[in-house]
Amino acid sequence: MPQSLPPIHIPQLLRAPERTDEMRVKDYLPDLETLMPIQGVVRVIHQTTYLEVVAQAETIVTLTCDRCLKQYNQRLKLDVSEMIWLSAASEESDSPLLEKETLLDDLVESLPPDGYFDPAAWLYEQLCLALPQQQLCDAACPGIPLATSPASESVDHRWASLAQLKSQIDSQSS
Ligand SMILES: [Zn+2]
Repeated sequence: MPQSLPPIHIPQLLRAPERTDEMRVKDYLPDLETLMPIQGVVRVIHQTTYLEVVAQAETIVTLTCDRCLKQYNQRLKLDVSEMIWLSAASEESDSPLLEKETLLDDLVESLPPDGYFDPAAWLYEQLCLALPQQQLCDAACPGIPLATSPASESVDHRWASLAQLKSQIDSQSS
């Protein structure tokens, strides 16, 4: 558990100055391989019916290239804000099934108003979302170098004749 991102008891936010909790982050997150601690700010604001979470953070992640499978480092910058609805689960249980399904379909995050918000888990999620879809060590990465052997059909015919010549010389000298 990163020390700079302790879970926030949501009702306590209402008593915080400006209903805001601002956390300076300088930590590694478990499950995310980073070359340096994640540095930045996470701000959580209680907006009565929802939490507003704002983050600016930066780190360097170690990724594996999709083409050549080499590991490489990439700077990751995060500048996001998200709304997390505060809704009590007990209230939802009264609503018809159909309505619940629609809520799930929207994939809107929600938390019970008397529960906890876990900024470390949230930040981890955001950083994962910020990872590039295609992970390449270089835009021009040629991929895994193909092993060239004289037997390969793709080998230039000049090399093939040279190899033939060499085998002729070899057989003559033995
Ligand atoms: Zn590569």
